[in-house]
Order: sequence, then structure tokens, then C-alpha cells
Amino acid sequence: MTKVRLKKRNVGIAVGCVIVVLVLIAGLFRWKQTLDYQKTFEYRLQKHGYSEEDTAYLIEHLENNELEELLKKEANENIPKFIQEDYYLKKNLDRYLSYYEQNPDKSLRDVVAIVNVRADEDWYSNPVEADVSQDNLLLVNKFHKLSKDYEAEDLEKVKNWYAYGDDPMLRKEAYDNFIALFNAAKEDGLTVIIASAYRDYQYQEDLYNGYLESLGQKETDDVAARPGFSEHQTGLTVDVTTYGANTDTFDTFEEFDWLQNHAHEYGFILRYPKDKEYITGYHYESWHYRYVGVEVATYIYEHDITFDEYYAYFIEGEK
Ligand SMILES: [Zn+2]
Repeated sequence: MTKVRLKKRNVGIAVGCVIVVLVLIAGLFRWKQTLDYQKTFEYRLQKHGYSEEDTAYLIEHLENNELEELLKKEANENIPKFIQEDYYLKKNLDRYLSYYEQNPDKSLRDVVAIVNVRADEDWYSNPVEADVSQDNLLLVNKFHKLSKDYEAEDLEKVKNWYAYGDDPMLRKEAYDNFIALFNAAKEDGLTVIIASAYRDYQYQEDLYNGYLESLGQKETDDVAARPGFSEHQTGLTVDVTTYGANTDTFDTFEEFDWLQNHAHEYGFILRYPKDKEYITGYHYESWHYRYVGVEVATYIYEHDITFDEYYAYFIEGEK
């Protein structure tokens, strides 16, 4: 063998070695890449059972710790759908899922609303003390109660010009805004009169017991609040009427249409709307209006939600 041939052979071996090393490095690199990919949420969520589309949505909308939580639960195609709902609250996710499973005919929006306001539970079960520090946004419903002696400090007597009956009372800001509403309606040739406003605990107790004797418990709960659970005790609520109307007919009067369009401009909302009984716990009451301030009333009006839903999301909900 000549020297030249030997040299060529050595070069060949060297090149071969380099190629082998390069292939090994490339292999290691790919192996490392695969391991890294398997740690990603993209891989883990899909492996867990989520579609590519749902995976992308979840990664975009949840924090890493929330994704880790999600991976501990069984995959459920409804989870991304609930997260997309406007009033979705993270703390309620498990309850949305189980309520929806039992009520598959309900819309997702309804499920969220029902669970948020606790209407998936029995009315009056485990009530909490109403948070009176919320001022105009004080919520009193079948799960939030006022104490026997709660009475707002700024109750004012409503002048006879605006009301029937002997001296109903309202909190000052609600009263001032009712006067503005009254005057605006008058300018349009209409008369909105207060038939009832503040009622204390004792009054509500007598009223409730009166119904109880003639209607029985279930019917009474549909039409009257138990004492402590009446919004009238807040001093922020009015029952209204107009000439010739009663509670059965008020919504056939022009005054009702006017209130539908304008009450929010003065901070009032229709508190127990038609077809929302399953959220408010009350039959439709065309005459019962609640003062919450112009900003919140406008929001509620524009988004077609109840005050219960507003409160559950914006005040009690986690942000
Ligand atoms: Zn009322």
C-alpha cells in the first residue's frame, strides 16, 4: 500500500466519524425537542382529550395555574364553552357542569345565570346577611337577608304629590331621582305615582303572614317576600301605579311603556321582569322598581340582565 492510499483511507474514516457524530447530535436534539414538546400545554391538553381548537382557546384564555387545575379534571368539551360565556365565574365551573348535565335543555347563558345567583339551590336555603355597605347596590333577595332592625339612616318622607297612602318613605338619593323621573314622565303627559315604598320588617312580617293564611306557604313565597328578605326594607324600592291602574293592569298603561324606556335614565330598574322568575325567584311584577343608580341601571337595561346577576358577577364574583 502506498502512502497516498493510506492517507485517503484515514481521511475517509475521519469523515465517516464526523457524520456519525453529527447524526447522533441531530438525534439527541430531536429527542430533547420531543421531550420539551410533551411538557407543553398544547401537547398535554390534547393528550388529555381536548380538541386542537379547544386547546388553542384554553391556552389563550387561561393562566398557567388554571391550565394545571384543568388537567386535574376530566376533559369536558363544555368547559371551553362555559369559559366563553360573558358572566363566567371560575369558582362556579364545577356547578355549571353538574347543573348543565342535569338540565341539558337549558342554554349555557341560563346555566351561568342560574348558578351565579344560586337559583340552582332551593329558595331561602342558607341565606347570608345582606351587605349593607354596598349602599345603593345593596342586594336583598331570597339568599340575602336584612336583619330585623335594619333601617337606612337617610329615609325621607315622600310628599303626598308623588304618592298615595300615608307618607311612604324612601332613601334620599332614590327619592331625588324618583322626583326627576316623575317630572320627566309628567312632561310626556304621564303620571307615575308611588303606591308603596319603604316597609319595615314588622310590616313585611304582617303582610307575609296575611298571605300565608289564605294562600299557603308555596304560593305565598311566589308573591311575597319573607320578612327580612323584602327589598322594600332597603328604602330603595318603589311600587308604582297610575290613575285607574292596579297591579294586574299596570303594564297595559302607557306609563309602563315609558318606564320600560326611561326608568334607567333615573337609576331605576324593573326588578322582577317577565320570564325571569327562575333567576329572581319572584313572579313578574310590572310595578316594582328598584333604585341602583344611573350607571348600574343603564348597564342592566342595556345587557338585559337582572340585578341578581349583576351583583353575583360584578360585586360578589372574583375578578
Ligand atoms: Zn314591591
